[in-house]
Amino acid sequence: MTLIACPDCDLLHQRQPLPVGGSARCTRCDAVLYRDNPAEISRHLALVIAALLLFVLANSHPVVTMDLQGQQLSCTLWDAVWVLHDKGLSPLSVVVFLTALVFPLLDTLLLLLLLWPLAQGRPVWGGRILLRVIQRIRPWSMMDVLFLSMLIAVVKLANTAEVIPGVALWSFAALTLLLAALAALEPRTLWERLIEVESA
Ligand SMILES: [Zn+2]
Repeated sequence: MTLIACPDCDLLHQRQPLPVGGSARCTRCDAVLYRDNPAEISRHLALVIAALLLFVLANSHPVVTMDLQGQQLSCTLWDAVWVLHDKGLSPLSVVVFLTALVFPLLDTLLLLLLLWPLAQGRPVWGGRILLRVIQRIRPWSMMDVLFLSMLIAVVKLANTAEVIPGVALWSFAALTLLLAALAALEPRTLWERLIEVESA
């Protein structure tokens, strides 16, 4: 049996199973105690899978043409990171690598690890730690747009590259929107679902 305190007035209630899409309210002040949220979890799981597919698309197509020793090369973001490094722009290449590649990928992979079992009502191994890590890296993975535009500005200034308005660029744009939509999933909803699945 699980006790849950009202977030507004601290009155303790016994947790009861809810109907699909239902919510439990405080008997004293009518504040929402918890909701039946599997539908929300499944929706976000679908977004996470879409984000991973976009990430693969965005990184497997060229995003800029760069001028390297007189040769025009079509580069993926990964190639561009190495070209920047070779041109002596290592700090920028590291920042782009982390904010445009590592953090968004880590963010979506960790969410997948968390949401996949939760959507099926299974407990998540290390779920609480996973959720904390996701909350920590979230602000960083949201900065990919900022650093991607910085990269574009720098390569334009250096006059060594042209942005290709193709599959990769549009995938990055869509990925950014999806990451923003995923960030709107409140940690509270995830905590509630974690606790619900563990106590079931
Ligand atoms: Zn209350």
